[in-house]
Amino acid sequence: MDPQYVAFQQAIIDTLRNPRYIDVLNFQLLSGNSSPDIHIYPNAYRGVAAAIEQGRINFDYVDAFDDPDQLAAYDTVTNQFVFLRSSVLNMDIGRSAVIHEATHAAIDRAGIGIHSRYLDESAAYIAEAAVILHLEGRRRNTGRIRAEAQRQARQLVIRHPRFQFTHDQLIPLIRAIEGNSLYAPTDDPVSRIYLSDTFDSNRWWDEKLGRRQQ
Ligand SMILES: [Zn+2]
Repeated sequence: MDPQYVAFQQAIIDTLRNPRYIDVLNFQLLSGNSSPDIHIYPNAYRGVAAAIEQGRINFDYVDAFDDPDQLAAYDTVTNQFVFLRSSVLNMDIGRSAVIHEATHAAIDRAGIGIHSRYLDESAAYIAEAAVILHLEGRRRNTGRIRAEAQRQARQLVIRHPRFQFTHDQLIPLIRAIEGNSLYAPTDDPVSRIYLSDTFDSNRWWDEKLGRRQQ
């Protein structure tokens, strides 16, 4: 087997089982409407690690993404992580990318149903930011979304178990995500992000229309 694949897989599993990374990740994002809330907790990451070991979640790597700012992805249709081939996943910076994508995977596995794409993305950025703050005790200046996520994540790092973010608290982060071209809405009817496979969680709640997107 490709040695880089084996090394990537082990780095992902090690990160998702390491208490240094996952113990701080215990929070809830309240949707503020009839779409589902999101619950994140350490065992959810252990569950993703187990799914990788069992071959129920796979991963691939690419030389480049279409958007040069993109570093990694989780595909809810194929249940697959995608990383840049040049990623160094055994360093803290690579591990925060693993935590980000594993948060998407954990939400997908939870099968919560049709939910907000922006809440899903907020959870991933808050988890990533909480890990960076927990390990480094300071923030990196890396753009509007991450700056806002780190401001939110500070509340986790001072250890409120099961910290609840209300929808109102999350609005600045949601606006930052909406304003980024990586997350621009698409009307493409074959866009893979709107397709469903294992779980219904692959369909998004349309915040503006107040209903699910088809
Ligand atoms: Zn994401």
